[in-house]
Amino acid sequence: MTFKLVTASAVGLTLATGAMAEGLIGIAMPTQSSARWISDGESMVGLFEDAGYSTILQYAEDDIPNQLAQIENMVTNGVDVLVIAAIDGTTLSNALENAHFAGIDIIAYDRLIRDSEHVSYYATFDNFQVGVQQADSLISGLESRFGSGPWNVELFGGSPDDNNAFFFYDGAMSVIQPLIDDGSINIVSGQMGMDRVGTLRWDGAVAQARMDNLLSAHYTDADIHGVLSPYDGLSIGILSSLKGVGYGSDDQEMPIVTGQDAEVPSIKSILAGEQYSTVFKDTRELARVTVGMVNALLGGDEPEINDTETYDNGVKVVPSFLLEPVSVDASNWEEILIGSGYYTEEQLR
Ligand code: BGC
Repeated sequence: MTFKLVTASAVGLTLATGAMAEGLIGIAMPTQSSARWISDGESMVGLFEDAGYSTILQYAEDDIPNQLAQIENMVTNGVDVLVIAAIDGTTLSNALENAHFAGIDIIAYDRLIRDSEHVSYYATFDNFQVGVQQADSLISGLESRFGSGPWNVELFGGSPDDNNAFFFYDGAMSVIQPLIDDGSINIVSGQMGMDRVGTLRWDGAVAQARMDNLLSAHYTDADIHGVLSPYDGLSIGILSSLKGVGYGSDDQEMPIVTGQDAEVPSIKSILAGEQYSTVFKDTRELARVTVGMVNALLGGDEPEINDTETYDNGVKVVPSFLLEPVSVDASNWEEILIGSGYYTEEQLR
């Protein structure tokens, strides 16, 4: 297979030289279409440079060959460590083999890289807990908006090539399945399981189209009360679809719609009474953990980890550091998002 080599300007290459040049760090991020990854990249470049490293930061705009080419370029450029948030966590094995033989350490960032023995460490959030928080918020929203139920609910999953999507879904279903079993929740379409509810590449337009279909096929005679959405970009598409058939008006209450990443359009939507909740994952903290891992690796020390059991990538259990996600809704957004300095008030109004 041949890969088109991408130019710096085409992919937003940032090559920065730190004062002490202790090492060159390649940072491969999936896409700039979601603000969280921009924040991840900026935070890492800032912290790495402060520590004296040089960085190459590249975004692949959700194109797998593009990300592979970027990683191969970083290897050719002689990086000491690769920090990778994979688009498709299963397609990097060959590139990582080459990196490993060039003496490069590899850290999986936020998303597990599967099927490679060369992933040294994994920095992420407690992804199962993200799903639990989404479902807990869905249930408390259903109770407060629609009373005791039973409730009509539809499920959305993330991208099936992203290992995280399964953790989010399984975490959410650990809360939702017992309520399906006892009759409190009806999945009216019957569509369950990641093979049926997954959303390739986390694409909001795909989620919107699926919501349109669900509404026209299953909700002409019944109201929908809740939608499990695993990511804000999907939630915005789902909300457009719901609004398109009249939800969110006086006689048709907006269903409870969850989310993830605390993206600005979704916080604005929460403040407008549309999206119900999101999950905040402080990307500044994830960057800090990752820079700490790199410091340890290049300094010959053991990086700090807090999980050695959960993330089996198919070849090995990757030692991980898991950060805690935080559920955010209209009751606590100010304290969590403004209070932590993640956003300013002006950004959200
Ligand atoms: C990340 C989420 C994000 C999703 C879509 C996942 O791997 O963990 O924070 O919402 O990708 O970008």
